[in-house]
Amino acid sequence: MDRRKFMKFIGCGACAAMSSHSGLLPEFLGGVQNACAFDYTRELSSVEARYYKKLPEGGIECEICPRRCRITDLERGYCGSRENRGDTYYTLVYGLPCAVNIDPIEKKPFHHFYPGTSAFSLATAGCNVNCKCCQNWDISQSRPEQTENFSLPPKDIIDLCQQRKVPTIAYTYSEPVIFYEYMYDTAELGHKHGIKSVMISGGYINPEPLGELLKHLNAVKIDLKAIRETYYKDYVDGELKPVLDGLIQIKKSDVWLEIVYLVIPTLNDSDDEFTELARWIKNYLGVDVPIHLSRFYPQYLLKNLPPTPQTTLDRALSICRAEGLEYVYLGNIPSHKAESTYCPKCGEMLIERRGYRTSVSGMSKNKCKSCGKIIPGRFF
Ligand code: SF4
Repeated sequence: MDRRKFMKFIGCGACAAMSSHSGLLPEFLGGVQNACAFDYTRELSSVEARYYKKLPEGGIECEICPRRCRITDLERGYCGSRENRGDTYYTLVYGLPCAVNIDPIEKKPFHHFYPGTSAFSLATAGCNVNCKCCQNWDISQSRPEQTENFSLPPKDIIDLCQQRKVPTIAYTYSEPVIFYEYMYDTAELGHKHGIKSVMISGGYINPEPLGELLKHLNAVKIDLKAIRETYYKDYVDGELKPVLDGLIQIKKSDVWLEIVYLVIPTLNDSDDEFTELARWIKNYLGVDVPIHLSRFYPQYLLKNLPPTPQTTLDRALSICRAEGLEYVYLGNIPSHKAESTYCPKCGEMLIERRGYRTSVSGMSKNKCKSCGKIIPGRFF
């Protein structure tokens, strides 16, 4: 893809994008901000899916995520992005993102993964759950023929990252698990060319595909939506247990892990839940895994609830810290002091954040300049 074509492509991305997958960096646009002449593709992909089995009685069973959809001929799975054709299973979204942006890595959010860098961020249509608070429901709850998609195979992504000196690719916005093959191949190719890959996911994935994928990822951020199974049943249409198992699996790998917990008034914001959350993280992952307690804003199917009060977030922060978690952040509250990173040993500010402006002033490589404590994460 040449530069002119790509600028058109990015311009179209701006038009197609909404909510958290909008917002382009001006320096990346190179001054071409309204060039929307790029042709979208109406074709869907027909790349054979991975992790499925043919059933003796006919049909297939998809083994990517715990939903394990059983699909008869010419039907699709729950996520709408995979289709059975004659008992061969196909991904329909390979190389066909509907949202592309260059984002600060802090937007994902990662606070301990090369702070201040950017990530080439992309998503396809579809999701394997249906969160009632989804901020990207316009793409996550769409089928690929309902979104405006671009043709962007893995090789083009790597070329663009190299041209624009973007060090990381982020699979994000919707649910990367449902475009597993596209993510896997891009991450594997990026790995060979020194481009890092990070997955931003709800973590609803089976152990085997997750294990293979982790070989090519550098970091994972998991949205842990609640610490109670009932919430997952009522507001996610998923299950908590596989997500917790996946968190343990990721933590045991070499891949960097951060967690987001969206605090929603009346649904997952009791003291007991914050205590359970902190204790589970402490006991199963360790106190040094960063957690982002994020503010909810009314949207999608939860417009009846108010934004999370500041006092609730402060209460959550206090409880998590009192339980011993060392890196607890508040999110979606620009310029709050709990966006910044502090040394848990001496209290010095290590990384200052104001919105997406990041200054790493209190660290030397991965150590606190003041007391020498090693700070977990990936730093220059
Ligand atoms: S990835 Fe999609 S088709 Fe496969 S089991 Fe999950 S929801 Fe079903």
